[in-house]
Amino acid sequence: MLIFWSTKNKVNRLQDGRKETHKCSACGKTATFFQCEVDKGVKLYGVVTLFGSQQKVMQCGECLALYKDEEDEKAIRAEAERLAKEEAKREAERQRIKDEEYKQREAEVDDELAQLKKNLGK
Ligand SMILES: [Zn+2]
Repeated sequence: MLIFWSTKNKVNRLQDGRKETHKCSACGKTATFFQCEVDKGVKLYGVVTLFGSQQKVMQCGECLALYKDEEDEKAIRAEAERLAKEEAKREAERQRIKDEEYKQREAEVDDELAQLKKNLGK
């Protein structure tokens, strides 16, 4: 299922983008859809990009209606999940190192105390 995408943003058809054949719900024709890139960036005075990203959409070759590119969104979601997992792993590793350092310090303090006791005992 294609989800209609309405935008007034600039659309660039990708040279090496995907091509798919779908029935277009806008013009009712079975048409070739071309993968395009939409510049979602909000430009300040048309120069400075404040925020935003390049988003991929599929464009009907007949009537130029734009649809969300589900494949691209899936890829983006998968990438975000992968990064989140990696970050969780890094966080766990940081915690492990912190725990080890803590244990190390505790051991050092114990040694020092033992040494002090020994010295006092003499
Ligand atoms: Zn169409």
